[in-house]
Amino acid sequence: MPAQQASVERMYVISCGENHVKDVSRWTPGVNVGKAHVFGNHCYLIKHAKGWMLWDTGSADRIAAMPNGLTAPNGIITAFMKKPLAESLREVGVAPGDIQHFAMSHGHGDHSGNANLFAASTLYMQTSEHDAVFGAEPQKFGFIPANFEKLRGAKTIKLNGDHDVFGDGSVLIKAAPGHTPGHQVLVVRLPKRGPVILSGDMVHLVYSWNNRVVPSFNFDIPQSGRTIDEMKAYAQKTGTQLWVNHDLEQHANIPKSPKYVE
Ligand SMILES: [Zn+2]
Repeated sequence: MPAQQASVERMYVISCGENHVKDVSRWTPGVNVGKAHVFGNHCYLIKHAKGWMLWDTGSADRIAAMPNGLTAPNGIITAFMKKPLAESLREVGVAPGDIQHFAMSHGHGDHSGNANLFAASTLYMQTSEHDAVFGAEPQKFGFIPANFEKLRGAKTIKLNGDHDVFGDGSVLIKAAPGHTPGHQVLVVRLPKRGPVILSGDMVHLVYSWNNRVVPSFNFDIPQSGRTIDEMKAYAQKTGTQLWVNHDLEQHANIPKSPKYVE
């Protein structure tokens, strides 16, 4: 796409919580065994000439009221939310109802925590993820059904692969299965910085991207590896950077909302 046709105007990178873990080797099998780690968590608000799009919703806003965070029943992860997503949106003058286009990388709780706020948006989901989230056994995939209560009736565009959201090549949903059945990533053509891939949980750390590391709990481990290979080839061919949602260290160098990136 010629630069003048890329019509993303700016993107707000919003801190959407932190996940504290006691043993990071669950995400990096064989490496850093027994080491505690803090994962970041981010949501991305895109201003396109034709409207707003939100990518991922972080952990549930109600966690912001819990000083000790919310520990998962298995005790492995404690989620913290410093500022509710609704408040971060308000800060930049955006109400949930202003967001026409809404997609999540996948259905896990640290990405779908506030999904119900966006029931009036058009939801873009891979069919395989939709089937798992709204099927008979969402828990089997690690999904929390309550996070999607209001989305059953939402206007939904079910995808079976890649999708050009605004029809101009500036925002692309790309199927990236493995972590969950219908995991996807988002390619955003920023007007000044150029194209970036927003990783979702395709990888959890830059380390994992560089070393093709797949967590042991992924839905499909071989497919997760193939997805990394395919996305690396895509990134190389198109000169696209990868922004790893949960990599706190990498995101420390990216301006956060209410500042924005272009
Ligand atoms: Zn995650």
